Amino acid sequence: MKKNILTIRVDDIFGQKCGCPICQTEKISEENACEYIAGSAMMTPEIRIETNKLGFCAEHFDMLLKTSARLPLALILSTHLDEIQNEAYGVRTSSFGKNPKAERSAEFEKTCYVCSRMDGDLDRFLHGMFKMYAEDESFRKLFSEQEYICFPHRNLLLNKAGKALKKDILKQFCAETERLSADKLIQIRKGLEELCSSFDYRNAGKPLSENAEFAPERAIEFITGRPKKD
Ligand SMILES: [Zn+2]
Ligand SMILES: [Zn+2]
Repeated sequence: MKKNILTIRVDDIFGQKCGCPICQTEKISEENACEYIAGSAMMTPEIRIETNKLGFCAEHFDMLLKTSARLPLALILSTHLDEIQNEAYGVRTSSFGKNPKAERSAEFEKTCYVCSRMDGDLDRFLHGMFKMYAEDESFRKLFSEQEYICFPHRNLLLNKAGKALKKDILKQFCAETERLSADKLIQIRKGLEELCSSFDYRNAGKPLSENAEFAPERAIEFITGRPKKD
């Protein structure tokens, strides 16, 4: 299979065999988007048009607060609020739900510039990943050697696979994805059970395994697809 930037990126992420590979690529894409926004992009007119329109979700506002300088952040917030004021405010009737401004107000709450960039990145990544899975046997082997696939990304992959892969390969892909995810779920449950039973006085002083010690963090990470502990 011919190598290009996308296949190299997919190989790179899967080659790490560390955690859920889709979580890994999302983490990198998120860091890149936040760094980009916190840097010169904040002052780029085309990007400002987009950030004014989309704004940011609470999680990504938090990231920007931690990473951005005060002046560019204040400027970005100020013009985003201008747009909210112009497009969402000015309701003069009592039936807000029927006012076109209600729809725009709701949109402002749902959209995020960083999330939308991440969605685009992930679509491209998955497109490359499915192509490699269909055409490259060594990548299929690499896929099956992953540490695990988290619950939301197992759902995403199973949902997207039907359109991306042909029947024979699709069956193999779904079985492998399900195995990688279900095995991890069982491992995390064991860790949680061990942690719970360590509170029993009969087990006092018994050392905890690493799997049990961080089982709540691992479980939340698995269920949400958001890292809780490196
Ligand atoms: Zn994941
Ligand atoms: Zn966001």
